[in-house]
Amino acid sequence: MARNEQYPGVLKTPYSIWHRNQHDGIAYSDIDKISQCPACGKALFLADLIFNANNQYKTKPFYTKRIYLEISTALQIPFFELYYTTEGRADNGPLESLSVRRIAPTKGDLQHINLDKWLQYLEFKVQEHIKVCQSKDYLLKRVTANNEHNKNFTRRNNYVKLLSIRS
Ligand SMILES: [Zn+2]
Repeated sequence: MARNEQYPGVLKTPYSIWHRNQHDGIAYSDIDKISQCPACGKALFLADLIFNANNQYKTKPFYTKRIYLEISTALQIPFFELYYTTEGRADNGPLESLSVRRIAPTKGDLQHINLDKWLQYLEFKVQEHIKVCQSKDYLLKRVTANNEHNKNFTRRNNYVKLLSIRS
């Protein structure tokens, strides 16, 4: 078995399979999540997604965290470990629960968070960025579009209010 294939969640793309079968003189990391502005694409935060099948909330070794910490420091964006469980505890089942621990810029306590609270945080990170967003017009168009994706967008007005403030 090639390196890392014993860990669930490791990407198995043709490139990753090829790379992981090479020698020990090279390495690379998959960044699990980079949250970004849906309009201009600016990076908002990083997260390592950790399947938490046994409720251990086990942090990753420093070597694994290091690349996230470097990117987080360089871009001055937070880095979280995001633990998830799934219905039926299968790694590919629907998402059931989330727990989050901030690692950078400062370490926070593990928080168990319901899915809507997490969605609110994701919205907050975009809203916090609006004042410097370079594509405000497109963001407004995107959040107010009447389409299938936006039909359950209950807090849309928070965006509309912020986007109507002209600086
Ligand atoms: Zn933006």
